[in-house]
Amino acid sequence: MSELSCDSLWRASAPAAPVLPQLEGRLNVDVVIVGGGFTGLSAALHMAKFGISVAVVEAQEIGFGGSGRNVGLANAGLWLEPDQLDKAIGIEAGKVLYDALAAAPDYVYKLIDEYKIQCEATRNGTLHAGVGKAGLAQLERRYEQLAKRGAPVQLLNTAEAQSRIGSEKFNSALFDPRAGTIQPLAYARGLADAALKEGAKLFDHSPVNKIQPTQEGWAIFTEQGEVHAEKVILATNAYSEHGVKEQARKFVPIFYSQLASKPLSEPQLRQILPNKEGAWDTCTVMSSFRLDQQGRLIFGGMGGEGSVLSNWACQRVSELFPFLNKAVEWDYCWTGKIAYSEDHLPHCQQLQNGLFSVAGYSGRGIGPGTVVGAELAQWFAGQRESLSIPTTLLRDIPFRELKRMFYEVGAHTYHLGQQSHALD
Ligand SMILES: Cc1cc2nc3c(=O)[nH]c(=O)nc-3n(C[C@H](O)[C@H](O)[C@H](O)COP(=O)(O)OP(=O)(O)OC[C@H]3O[C@@H](n4cnc5c(N)ncnc54)[C@H](O)[C@@H]3O)c2cc1C
Repeated sequence: MSELSCDSLWRASAPAAPVLPQLEGRLNVDVVIVGGGFTGLSAALHMAKFGISVAVVEAQEIGFGGSGRNVGLANAGLWLEPDQLDKAIGIEAGKVLYDALAAAPDYVYKLIDEYKIQCEATRNGTLHAGVGKAGLAQLERRYEQLAKRGAPVQLLNTAEAQSRIGSEKFNSALFDPRAGTIQPLAYARGLADAALKEGAKLFDHSPVNKIQPTQEGWAIFTEQGEVHAEKVILATNAYSEHGVKEQARKFVPIFYSQLASKPLSEPQLRQILPNKEGAWDTCTVMSSFRLDQQGRLIFGGMGGEGSVLSNWACQRVSELFPFLNKAVEWDYCWTGKIAYSEDHLPHCQQLQNGLFSVAGYSGRGIGPGTVVGAELAQWFAGQRESLSIPTTLLRDIPFRELKRMFYEVGAHTYHLGQQSHALD
């Protein structure tokens, strides 16, 4: 692999970011949001629509966090299987959350249409690809639980799965037509444009380094400015830094890296995911693969970027798609940080009166982040009584660093093992 850019494909191919000012001086609003990802931007967009005055303060640039680095699978639901969700939060609350997130892709694609967001929106479904007996059993279980709840999913047999994916390495696939793919950074930037259009104020390159209660509510401070508001939302998820660092103690950060190839040839594109679904597999150390609109193959795996991961990815791609004949040339490689909460669910915690934090998407944040942002706006506008996600406080995760290392070393060892196995 040569000349690999360590910047992301998403940064290279997204429409330009909105030009935003840095926060300077004092501003008064009803709600100030820390963090310019899907959650913060969707909340700001919807609050502005309700006439709530709102400002978003972003430390780096819009979509700098998970929102600009992810795989771009706009899925319905969460990582947890529906029955696991019911077990975690109870059947009634589980149903409310399941229903809200089953409709999340509808909501995402509706916003994309409404605000004409240029983000390579493709709604051809997703394929959860089964590997081995355990993978098939997992997909059968998911299929049964989803079908029972009325989801229009299809369990594909070996022949169907192999032709839809273009690989003989899978024995089944769960097709979900509700889902699709997007260019995630372009979506985040589009949400920012939409929020601005609705009247929200956005600032970038303005790390919040202090948050303080005041007589009227709260104030957040950056080096050169301050925002006073009745309410603050910390929408910083896995990227909680500077003045909100302590939020990071509530989840285990897991790294996930992706490689993007040069555009594939027409004959290659006729074989790999010819219907352009987004895909990921059932392996414990999971991989994902999809195409972008230029026909680049985007392949991802758990772990930080580095030669073990990229060597493994190259080898895994040749195993999955031997007709590529090891001829894939990679242009981009980048990494993102996922916030795994203890129960694998996102939570909205009221840390103190008027100070909220939303975090713990555990790798499913496109639909959920968009929906939670919209629900926060409805809640603050008095249009709903509660949120669909749990509002329980997350505790600091004990041995967080050890757990992070466990996942990182586990993924590394797996990738290394797979490589040497193939070399035997
Ligand atoms: C590699 C990867 C792959 C993923 N794949 C998918 C997928 O295919 N489908 C899916 O649905 N989800 C996926 N996810 C999850 C999804 O991307 C996240 O859940 C989602 O982006 C979280 O959005 P957010 O707005 O809550 O946080 P983020 O997008 O992380 O935004 C947080 C922002 O807060 C800012 N910030 C932090 N501290 C401060 C401060 N002190 N002051 C000001 N700003 C601050 C950061 O700079 C950052 O921009 C993936 C995540 C990763 C990392």
